[in-house]
Amino acid sequence: MQRSCDSSRTTSDERPSDADAMSDECARCGVVVPSGEWHPVKTVRDDEGRVEIYDFCGEACRSAWLAERNADD
Ligand SMILES: [Zn+2]
Repeated sequence: MQRSCDSSRTTSDERPSDADAMSDECARCGVVVPSGEWHPVKTVRDDEGRVEIYDFCGEACRSAWLAERNADD
């Protein structure tokens, strides 16, 4: 097994991870959804009042995800 020292990869230019915003994953099936394309989303406010945005590859996944989520309650 090979282990590489990561010290050389220290982020010298640290900034918010904009790269994460370039693409989203379907909250249900994990398929990568290009953020530049229209796709269904669901915004959920958690107990602490923070808004989370869930992305979906299609309406079918959104409906299924909502159904599963509601079934939990
Ligand atoms: Zn999906």
